[in-house]
Amino acid sequence: MDQAFDAVLFDRDGTLIQDVPYNGDPSRVAPMPGARELLRDLRTHGIRTGVVTNQSGIGRGLLTETQVAAVNARVEELLGRFGTWQVCPHHPAEGCACRKPAPGLVFAACAALGVSPQRTLLVGDIGADVAAASAAGAVPLLVPTAVTRPEEVEQAPHTAPDLHAVLEMVR
Ligand SMILES: [Mg+2]
Ligand SMILES: [Zn+2]
Repeated sequence: MDQAFDAVLFDRDGTLIQDVPYNGDPSRVAPMPGARELLRDLRTHGIRTGVVTNQSGIGRGLLTETQVAAVNARVEELLGRFGTWQVCPHHPAEGCACRKPAPGLVFAACAALGVSPQRTLLVGDIGADVAAASAAGAVPLLVPTAVTRPEEVEQAPHTAPDLHAVLEMVR
């Protein structure tokens, strides 16, 4: 990947922070290895950052928007400010245009940052992140975790072992 990027978008759960399913408790937010350093370095290099996250716990009635906002605020306390947050609150059955693998969150994030999807890298941990990036015309980067399925890893056009590898790809 020898392309210049203006922005890096991140999935939240399992990418920026440890995945705690339907977490509404800010005290349970724990950054993934390398996240803090990567965000610091991206900002130093003038690269815009954003978060694109499915939070169907809201639509499922398991989480309130206030809880999600509190968790997101804790993420920014730990990792610094992001240029945009795009959250899909819908239940999967609603068929919205924003829930990944649909591209809606990616389009909205790029518009909010004033960047082209073609010059945006999207880092995620599952196939839906890769698909959302591809559908939007952004460049996907899969950073697998223990729960990422093998076929998702095989099908991803770009993978990295951890977040430490991301900076070199965007510079
Ligand atoms: Mg994830
Ligand atoms: Zn949605």
